[in-house]
Amino acid sequence: MAFRIRKRLSDICVAHRLPGHEGKCKFLHGHNYFIYITLEADELNEMGFVVDFKDVKKFQEVVDVWDHSLLLWEKDPFSHFFPKSLYSLSDTSPHVIEFASILQKIFLVPFIPTVENMSQHLYEKAVGFFSKFEKVRVVSVEMYETSDASCEYTYTPIFEEGKE
Ligand SMILES: [Zn+2]
Repeated sequence: MAFRIRKRLSDICVAHRLPGHEGKCKFLHGHNYFIYITLEADELNEMGFVVDFKDVKKFQEVVDVWDHSLLLWEKDPFSHFFPKSLYSLSDTSPHVIEFASILQKIFLVPFIPTVENMSQHLYEKAVGFFSKFEKVRVVSVEMYETSDASCEYTYTPIFEEGKE
């Protein structure tokens, strides 16, 4: 038996494109993603919580890195329009400084930015983020790309100890 809690984080607005997609998803477009994080523990802490929801909410700061950003697969030919490093911009004119500021929200990621890969990435971040809470497991991160389409990335439960 275990206690499971689930928290919806504040929405984030992310642009992406899916290279090679045969439909409209190859074009730059965006979604207002909403994200649920689910945590569990076999026993409650001394306050009677799995994790206080106010502490769960702090994971928002990790998710917010992507808010108002553009995610591009690092192998996407389109990503070649953007320098990999801000240090390659030696010009200090105002429009270059403005461009550098915008580049801070263009992330070249090692995966095609589908909701599946994005939820896996956030799940792995969540495992690190909540590791300070002993005996608490991150069950899943579920990301909704639209109100009726989502991906839940979750661990594979071990039903019997000692067996696969
Ligand atoms: Zn999309």
